Amino acid sequence: MTFQPDLFKDKHALVTGATQGIGAAVANALATLGANVTAVGIDHGDGSLDARIDVCLADVSSEADVAALFGKLSALDILVNCAGIIRRGGAEHDVAVFEQVVAVNLTGTMRICCAARPLLAARRGVIVNTASMLSFFGGALVPGYAASKGGVAQLTKSLALAYASDGIRVNAVAPGWIATPLTQALQEDQARSGAILQRTPLSRWGRPEDIGDAVAFLCAPASAFITGVILPVDGGYLIA
Ligand code: NAD
Repeated sequence: MTFQPDLFKDKHALVTGATQGIGAAVANALATLGANVTAVGIDHGDGSLDARIDVCLADVSSEADVAALFGKLSALDILVNCAGIIRRGGAEHDVAVFEQVVAVNLTGTMRICCAARPLLAARRGVIVNTASMLSFFGGALVPGYAASKGGVAQLTKSLALAYASDGIRVNAVAPGWIATPLTQALQEDQARSGAILQRTPLSRWGRPEDIGDAVAFLCAPASAFITGVILPVDGGYLIA
């Protein structure tokens, strides 16, 4: 066990995009370390979520859903924004699709941060957002995803400045290539998967748990003097 088992005892955590994939691994990591976790998703996902975690169905791009979600919360120490979508194959060159991706990935993150701020300020809490390799690179076929993730990085820095006086730290993880349902098609494409592995110095696909551990660090007192950081968790992909 890398962390003290009761690291987040008596802490309340909200993780969006948490019914499968990276968000579920983050929620599981926080719950394993003692947090009371509420997991948000638009569906019940793939069953990878720990049974002790409360699931709440809500769409982060819906003002009404987010208001209803926060109506049920009385305390919050940890917010992790993981909800994200991508529309592959060039579909994001359609402006309506572009807007939908930005509405979930970027505006959805902002909406949840705004709703959470008063609760987090009351307990000097933390926020971890989810950036991407496409916060740093362009994506010819996914302009909405890349723009939204570039935006998440800048939003993270801006909110780190804005919320510092409330005692709220705001950071982001930038996952590399992680094996989840979102990247299923890439994992199954031998040419694309081979190119990814060849460029990744640690020569494997990331596991959702790799991100869970990094998020746990950014939520813990061990990172008390870290804010506004975009932390790559990518097996070295960015520096290769
Ligand atoms: P996933 O598709 O496996 O899971 C997405 C989760 O988000 C699900 O729980 C789904 O219910 C939820 N969700 C989708 N739209 C939502 C909405 N409008 N409101 C609320 N919840 C919603 O995806 P993943 O691979 O686990 O990705 C999670 C996050 O990590 C995303 O922000 C993604 O962009 C980011 N990311 C993933 C990778 C990767 O390689 N998998 C790399 C970089 C960044």
